[in-house]
Amino acid sequence: MLIYDLVCGRQHAFEGWFQSAEDYEAQLRQGLLRCPLCDSDEVGRVPSPSHLRTNTNKASPAREEAKARQAQALQQLRDYLQRHSEHVGERFAEEARRIHYGEAEARNIHGTASHAEVAELHAEGIHAVPLPLSSLDKRKQH
Ligand SMILES: [Zn+2]
Repeated sequence: MLIYDLVCGRQHAFEGWFQSAEDYEAQLRQGLLRCPLCDSDEVGRVPSPSHLRTNTNKASPAREEAKARQAQALQQLRDYLQRHSEHVGERFAEEARRIHYGEAEARNIHGTASHAEVAELHAEGIHAVPLPLSSLDKRKQH
């Protein structure tokens, strides 16, 4: 898959995805390439070194943006948890159980638990909501 930076006669820049360079040439010849903004078929490639990037080694700007937004949302969630909930780390399942059975003070906690532990908690009627924060932790360590 090739991603080309394209531009129309009115200088609207956009991206085109093609199976191959031949695919691009064929679509161009048949007038199938049109500007998504003004529908002009005067479309050509932007002469820049980025015109040969592929989606295997570089993500599109839109995808990068979505990823950044997701990371930001996770960060906000993590900030919220840090302010309103106690981090109990690996002791999550144990602590959740102690709270449930009145052996520890009732409060919000977060931490890590295995799928098996979460399943056990659910079986005992204890609510644990899995959050994708551990993947964020792992990414930050690298
Ligand atoms: Zn245009």
